[in-house]
Amino acid sequence: MINRLGFVFRRLRSLFDTLADPLRKDPDANQFRLSIPEAQTTTVDGDVGWGHRPPARLRCPRCEATIEHHDPRADIDCSRCVAEFSHEEFPDLELLCLVCPTCGDRMEHGQRHPNRFDVPEWATCHTCRYHWDFKHSY
Ligand SMILES: [Zn+2]
Ligand SMILES: [Zn+2]
Repeated sequence: MINRLGFVFRRLRSLFDTLADPLRKDPDANQFRLSIPEAQTTTVDGDVGWGHRPPARLRCPRCEATIEHHDPRADIDCSRCVAEFSHEEFPDLELLCLVCPTCGDRMEHGQRHPNRFDVPEWATCHTCRYHWDFKHSY
């Protein structure tokens, strides 16, 4: 078994040398490497702050209808019954999901400090990669 692994390793080494050799001799090899785009420069659409929170779907505690709550600072009104809540009561209502403002899909949301906050602190859309954060992580 050990011999076999050694053999595979030697095969890979010689394969690597064969591939790397032309680049070592080529004076433009460094330039070639620089032209490869870096993955980190890819920007993802997103927002930060409670004021930019994605629209939320809440459950009306009175009639169980779904309440669409778009503006985080607006009152929460049930369109089916007379229930009405201040935006400060948001944490008391059952959050069904956050809705992606870019593509309209349901977002995955979660908390980083469940003991300090009772509202979602981040949300990610798996369809279009939109990401929202309650605040920067630094
Ligand atoms: Zn209602
Ligand atoms: Zn989306």
